[in-house]
Amino acid sequence: AQSEKEAALAAIPVDGDSPTIFDKIIKKEIPSTIVYEDDKVLAFRDISPQAPTHILVIPKVKDGLTGLSKAEERHVEILGRLLYVAKLVAKQEKLDDGYRVVINDGKNGCQSVYHIHVHVIGGRQMNWPPG
Ligand code: IMP
Repeated sequence: AQSEKEAALAAIPVDGDSPTIFDKIIKKEIPSTIVYEDDKVLAFRDISPQAPTHILVIPKVKDGLTGLSKAEERHVEILGRLLYVAKLVAKQEKLDDGYRVVINDGKNGCQSVYHIHVHVIGGRQMNWPPG
């Protein structure tokens, strides 16, 4: 049986590079709870948290990086920065007993927003394998 999320994902063009809701968050046209910001990266709370702490870390400029599968050599620096900010945010959130960092990619990865983002999820025991 197809879940609600899977059904919604099936309606989204997988390789779309059009603006997403994250552009509106970056421009502060819609509200979000920002927990970290610098000139290149923004981190804010996920609207549908899957754990006590659930934060998304995104590049302010997408530059074609709709998802990890679109990464090119020119993205190496921002990719590193996203992971480093994930660590900073985890520390700020006091996830001292550990946490999970996730990048969903494409249909099978259950990606729903085509602007690359790193999930930082913690504050409870995670399970493995993931669903
Ligand atoms: P994905 O499924 O890996 O693409 O993750 C997209 C995430 O963005 C999901 O966890 C959503 O809950 C989250 N999300 C979607 N819209 C918003 C929003 O407006 N504010 C904050 N998080 C959002």
